[in-house]
Amino acid sequence: MSDTKLTQQDYIEREDKFGAHNYHPLPVVLNRGQGVYVWDIDGKKYYDFLSAYSAVNQGHCHPKIIKALTDQAAKLTLTSRAFYNDVLGEFEEYITRYFGYDKVLPMNTGAEADETALKLCRKWGYDKKGIADNQAKIIVCEGNFHGRTITIISMSTDPDSYRGFGPYTPGFQVVPYNDFTALEEALCDPNVAGFLVEPIQGEAGVYVPDEGYLKKAYDLCKANNVLFIADEVQTGIARTGKMLACDHEGVRPDILILGKAVSGGVFPVSAVLADDDIMLCIKPGEHGSTFGGNPLGCKVAIAALQVIKDEKLEENAARLGEIFREELRKMPSDMIELVRGKGLLNAVVIKPKNGKTAWDVCMTMKENGLLAKPTHGHIIRFAPPLIITEEQLRDALAIIKKSLSVFE
Ligand code: PLP
Repeated sequence: MSDTKLTQQDYIEREDKFGAHNYHPLPVVLNRGQGVYVWDIDGKKYYDFLSAYSAVNQGHCHPKIIKALTDQAAKLTLTSRAFYNDVLGEFEEYITRYFGYDKVLPMNTGAEADETALKLCRKWGYDKKGIADNQAKIIVCEGNFHGRTITIISMSTDPDSYRGFGPYTPGFQVVPYNDFTALEEALCDPNVAGFLVEPIQGEAGVYVPDEGYLKKAYDLCKANNVLFIADEVQTGIARTGKMLACDHEGVRPDILILGKAVSGGVFPVSAVLADDDIMLCIKPGEHGSTFGGNPLGCKVAIAALQVIKDEKLEENAARLGEIFREELRKMPSDMIELVRGKGLLNAVVIKPKNGKTAWDVCMTMKENGLLAKPTHGHIIRFAPPLIITEEQLRDALAIIKKSLSVFE
C-alpha cells in the first residue's frame, strides 16, 4: 500500500493486520514531535502527557540530542564490544561521575538492564556473600513492573504479564510493596542476595510508598548484607523532581538501573551502575550485548543527560508537579477518585460514571488535544516532558478540566 493518501484508519488497520496484537493503542496516528507536542498525520497538535512512558523527559526531538545523534551517525555507529571505540569510555566516565558510581554496564532496553542487575546480584551473592550454588534469592515487590522477559515476568504479580508464559524462573520471593515488616522477615533468610524495588511503582499506577519506606528498606538491606537494587528506569533522571527518586530519601542504591530517559527517547540506551566490589563480580565473557555501549547510543546519552542538568529539569518537575496535583485536586469532577504522584509522574484514579471509564476520558482528552493513556482500566497516568512550561501546563490542565466536564 502506498502511503500517499492513507487516512488514520488505514494506518491503524495496517498495523492491526500485519503487527502482533500485543498493545491496545489510543486511535491516533502520529508523525511529528517537537518539545511537549506531537502532531497526527492530519496536522492536529496534541500535548504529549505520556512522554513514551517517561522516556522523552527532555521533550521530542531536542535539538542538542538530535545533533549528537546525527553527528555520530555519520562517523561510527557500532563496533560491538569485540573492539574498543573512542566514545564508550567517554560515556562511561560521564555517567559514572554523573551518578557517583565506580562503574557502569551499558545495555539497550530497561528489561535488559533489569536482567543484568539480577545476574550481577546473584553473582555477588555467590562470590562475595558466600551463598551456596543456585540458592540465591532476590526479594521483589507485589505490583512490580520490570519489563517483559521470561525471568522478569516470573516475579510479576500481574496475571496479564505472567499468565500463559510458564514455566517460570525460580529464585524470587514477593513481599507487599511499602511494607517493611514483611521485608524484614524475608531478609532473615541468609540466601537472600538482593532486594529489587521501584522507588515509585509506575506501571502499577504510580504508587508512591510512604515517606521513609525506601530509607528503612535500605537500612534493613544493609543490616542483612543484602544488595538494595533500585529500578529507576521510569522514575529516574529528574522525572519525580529529583535526579533519582531515591534521592528524595537520601538513599544510594547498591545497584542502580536506568533506561528510557537516559537517551531522551531518541535511541535505546540503558545502564546498570554499581561500585567495583559488585560490578567486578562479572568477568569477561559472562555477560554482554551486541548493541550495548554502541558509540551512537553513547553520544546520544551524554547529550540527553547534559540537557537534564543544563535545563534544570528536576527543579521544573518538582515545581510544576506541585501545581499539577493541586489543580487536579481542585477540579469539580466526581470521576476523580484520587490524585497521586511526585514531580511530573502523576496519576488520577478514575471512578467510572454512567458506564464511562478512564478510556472514555482519554478519548475525550485526545479530541481536545491532549494524549494520555489509561492503565489497569481505571488509572490515567499524566507524565509530560519535563521541559513543559507553567503556561503550557495550565493550558493542558484546562484541556483536562474541559474533557472531564463532558461527563458531568
Ligand atoms: N522497569 C521499569 C520500572 C519500567 O517502568 C519499565 C518500562 O516501563 C521497564 C523496566 C522496562 O523497560 P523497557 O520497556 O525499555 O524494556
